[in-house]
Amino acid sequence: MIIDAHGHIGMFNSWPLVKGRPEDVVNMLCNEGIDYVLVSSAKAIAYDCPSGNAEVLEAAAKYKEIIPMLCINPRRPEEAVAELSTRQARGFVGVKLHPSHHEYSLTSPAARAVLELCEESQVPVLTHSAEDDPGCGPQAIATIAERHPDLLLIVGHACLFSSREVVDVAEECPNVYLELSVNYEAAKLEDTIERLGCGRLLFGSDVPLHNPSVMVQRVKVIGLPKEEENKILCENTRRLFQLSV
Ligand SMILES: [Zn+2]
Repeated sequence: MIIDAHGHIGMFNSWPLVKGRPEDVVNMLCNEGIDYVLVSSAKAIAYDCPSGNAEVLEAAAKYKEIIPMLCINPRRPEEAVAELSTRQARGFVGVKLHPSHHEYSLTSPAARAVLELCEESQVPVLTHSAEDDPGCGPQAIATIAERHPDLLLIVGHACLFSSREVVDVAEECPNVYLELSVNYEAAKLEDTIERLGCGRLLFGSDVPLHNPSVMVQRVKVIGLPKEEENKILCENTRRLFQLSV
C-alpha cells in the first residue's frame, strides 16, 4: 500500500494548467498505484478555510482514496477554534497550515495558540515550509518543535531542502517528521536517510501540482530494504495519523 501524505484539491491561481478536481487527483494517484492521499483544499489555503474544508469532506465522501485534512488560518482565531472543535467529529485526520499563503509566522502568538491546541489533542500538523520564508523555514520549525515538544509536527516539502538545515533540526527534535514532496535531487534523500533513518520520513507528492509518480520513483530508486521503503511510502503516515486503512 502507498499513502500520499500531501495532496490538494482545487485550483491554485499560480498553477493555471493544473487540473485539481477530485476526480483528476484520484486519477493521478490510481495511475501510480497510490491507494490513499491526505488532502487539503486550495480554496482553504488561498482564502476561505471553512468552505474549502467543506469541499474536502464532500470529495472524501465521494472518493475512498481521499482522506481529509483540516486547513486552519491562525490569523482568524475564532474561525480556527471553531473549525478545530469539530475536527474529529467531521473526520479530519490532521491539520494543515500554510504560513506563506496566509502570511504569518509559525512562531507568532496566533500560531502558538493553534499549535497548543493541536499539541493538547495530539492531532498531527502538516505545515508548508520553505527555506526562503522565515515564517516557516528551518529556524521557525526548530522554535516551535522545541516550544511544543509533544506536537506531532510534519514539515511539508522538508523546507524544499536545498541546504541540510532542516535535517539538522530533525536530528535535534524527535517530534519533527519530514514530508518529502518536491525534493528530487540526487543524493539528498539518501543522505537524509543515513542521518535520520526511515522512521520519520513521509512520502508526499503535492498532487496535483506535481505528478506523484516522480516522488514514488525518487523513493524506490534508492533500493531500500522493503520494510524500510514501506515505512516511508505507507507505515509512517498510517501510524502518525492513526489511519484505519
Ligand atoms: Zn500543501
